[in-house]
Amino acid sequence: MKIGVLAIQGDFAEHLVALKRIGVEGREVRLPEHLDGLQGLIIPGGESTTIGKLAVDFQLLEPLKQFGRVHAIWGTCAGAIFMSKDAHRDQPLLGLMDITVERNAFGRQIASFEVDLDAPYLPSFNGSSHPFHAVFIRAPLIESVHGDAQILTALPDGRIVAARQNRWLATVFHPELTNDDRFHHYFVELAR
Ligand code: GLN
Repeated sequence: MKIGVLAIQGDFAEHLVALKRIGVEGREVRLPEHLDGLQGLIIPGGESTTIGKLAVDFQLLEPLKQFGRVHAIWGTCAGAIFMSKDAHRDQPLLGLMDITVERNAFGRQIASFEVDLDAPYLPSFNGSSHPFHAVFIRAPLIESVHGDAQILTALPDGRIVAARQNRWLATVFHPELTNDDRFHHYFVELAR
């Protein structure tokens, strides 16, 4: 099992550390050929416009789309925006997931926050499932899901913060910034 992490901008290093912690081999992806032999790809948080522009410059956009047609991809925060079909703006997107996102939906950087979320679908290692501590940094919202996309997690007021569509996963928060690796385990199972 080998999982790539798109390493052109954002907090890719933290995802690689989390993969290492759970004993999965990770690889930095910067060029199309780095996708060869991977079972899945993580797109980190950062700045979605920058990730999109660099993906175009590095001629990665089409190879990433093609990879996603057969493999698992997980986008966190900016990565979730990049996975979406619609971000209400003209910016390069992979357009894989049938989700519409609203960028910076919680306001500016200073409005970043942390909250415990129920996530019963995550693996439980001691028989009891406990809430997931989620870190939101100038996060988007998943405004709506369409087609085959499903809501995975919502805030208590109903706003959607995680979605899944087949082997694709989008979380608008940052599991890689905690020591709770359950989302990384969950994604590795999707990729398997
Ligand atoms: N605000 C960023 C964007 O719109 C996302 C922030 C993040 O990835 N933490 O792309």
